[in-house]
Amino acid sequence: MGMAASRILVADDDEAVLESVTWLLQENGYEVVPANGGAACLEQLERNAPDLLLLDILMPDADGCQLLERIKGEERWRDLPVLMLSAQPPEEASVRSLGLGAADFIRKPYRPNELLARVQAQLRVGALLRSTRAALQRTEEALVRAQQDADSRRKLVDILHEVTGDLSVSELLHLLVRRAALALGVSHCSVILARPGELQAQVVAAFENPGLQQLTVRLDRYPELKAALESGQPVLVEDIDTHPLYEGVRHVWGIEGIEVPIRSVIALPFSMDRRQYGVFLVRRTRDQERFGPADLEFAQAVITAAVAVIQRAQMVESTMADNARLEHLAQTDPLTQLLNRRALAERITGEMERALRYDSSMALLLIDLDHFKQVNDTYGHLVGDDVLRDVGQLLRETIRGCDIVARYGGEEFLVLLPETDDAGAESFAERIRLAVEEHLFAREARVEPLRLTASVGVAVFPAARIESVDDLFARADAALYRAKAAGRNRVRL
Ligand code: GH3
Ligand code: MG
Ligand code: MG
Repeated sequence: MGMAASRILVADDDEAVLESVTWLLQENGYEVVPANGGAACLEQLERNAPDLLLLDILMPDADGCQLLERIKGEERWRDLPVLMLSAQPPEEASVRSLGLGAADFIRKPYRPNELLARVQAQLRVGALLRSTRAALQRTEEALVRAQQDADSRRKLVDILHEVTGDLSVSELLHLLVRRAALALGVSHCSVILARPGELQAQVVAAFENPGLQQLTVRLDRYPELKAALESGQPVLVEDIDTHPLYEGVRHVWGIEGIEVPIRSVIALPFSMDRRQYGVFLVRRTRDQERFGPADLEFAQAVITAAVAVIQRAQMVESTMADNARLEHLAQTDPLTQLLNRRALAERITGEMERALRYDSSMALLLIDLDHFKQVNDTYGHLVGDDVLRDVGQLLRETIRGCDIVARYGGEEFLVLLPETDDAGAESFAERIRLAVEEHLFAREARVEPLRLTASVGVAVFPAARIESVDDLFARADAALYRAKAAGRNRVRL
C-alpha cells in the first residue's frame, strides 16, 4: 500500500454541489467526508481529522466565516488548510475569509480543474507545514535533551565536588547512588558488592530505598549482576522481556507469578580492592524511557569517577583505623586493658594545669598489692595474671566517670581523681582498699577463692613542693612506702 489518500472534508448546504464535489474528488483519488451544513462540518471535523477542508461561505445554519474563525482559533486545526467556496463572489467575503486564515478562495460554480489544482496545492502546503512543525518539534526535543545532558554533566561534576570532603565509604556510596539517580533520571540505583566465587552479593547503598542496607541478593536471581561480575564488562539490557540474559529468570518469574516492574537495566562492574568487586546498578521501570548506549556511556563516566574517590576514601579510612589502633595499643596495658603509665602521665599534666587554672585540686592514688609475689609463687604466674585482670576490673567498677585508672606496672595501679581534695582522696582510697579486701579473686581459675589486700599512697595537688608530674608521683610513692611500712592494707597521705 502506498501513501494513504488525503482526506478532504466538504461542507456545503447545497446537496447538488456536495454530491458533485464529492464525486470529482473521489474520482481523483481523494477520500471525501461530506457534511451538509455547519453543524455537520464541526462534527465531522472532530471525527475524521481531515487533511483539508472545503467550506461553503454561505450556509443557512452557519456563517462560513464565523465557522472558519472558530476552527482557526483552535490549536489542533491551526495547520488545516481551508478552501472557501462561495456562490456569490463578493470581493469582501473572499478578502475577509483569507484574513481569517483561509488558504484559498474558490468561486461557485467552480471549474473542476481549478478546484483540483487548488486542492492539490493546499494539500502540498499542508503536508509541508506539518513536516516542518514535526522537524521543529524534534529540534526542540533535541535541544531539551542537550540541555539535560549538560545538566547531567554538571551533576556529575557536583558528585565529584561533593565527595572531595572526608566522607566515609558508606556515606560516599549513598551520596553516589542519590546523585547518580538524579543525574541519570532513574528510579532505581544501587551499589552491590560481591566477592569472587560467591553466590550472594550485598546491597551496600540503594537510592530507591536508603534504608535498604546490607541486604543480600542471590546472584542467580539477577542475571545482569552475575554477567557483569563474571565478565567484568558493562551490561546494557534495553528490555528484560526480550533479552536472552533473562531467559532463565523469566521462566522463574512466570512460575512464581512475579511481575517485575523493571524494564531496562545497566550493570557496571568495578573493582573496589583485591577481595571485593562492585556493581553499579541502574534500572528503569516500565513507564520510563529505555536505556540506550548513551546512558551506558554516561553511567560509566559516573562510576569511573566515583570509584577513584571511593578508593581514596577507603585508603583514608583504613589508614585512620590503623592509626586509631596503633594509638590505642600505644596507650593501653595489654593485660588489664587499662591505660598504661605513659598515657596516664599525659592526662596528669592536663589535670594539674586544670586544677591550677580553676583553683581546684586533684589527687593521685598509687595502689600496690600486698605480698603479691606469694600469689605467683603459690599458684603460678597465670593465676597471678588473672588476679591482676580482676584488680583492673574492680578498680574500673569503683571509680567515677571522670576518674582515670591505669596500670603503673607490675602489681601497681594508679587512680587519677579530678576535683578531689585531701579528705575526698583519702576516703576514696579507703573505699578501694576495702573493695580489694572484700573481693574474691581469680574465681574462674581457682577452686578456692583468693583473698588479697592492697596498700594505697595518696598525693594531692596543688601542694607545697609539688611542681611536676614526677613530684606528684614521688609524693604518692612515698605515701605508699609509709603504708607498707605501717603494716600494709592501709591508706597513707
Ligand atoms: P609488697 O608489695 O607487699 O611489699 O609485696 P609484693 O610481693 O607485692 O612486692 P614486690 O613488688 O617485691 O613483688 C611484686 C611481684 O609482682 C613481683 C612479680 O612476681 C609480680 N608481678 C609483677 N608484674 C607481674 C605480672 O605482670 N604478672 C604476674 N603474674 N606477676 C607480676
Ligand atoms: Mg606489692
Ligand atoms: Mg610492687
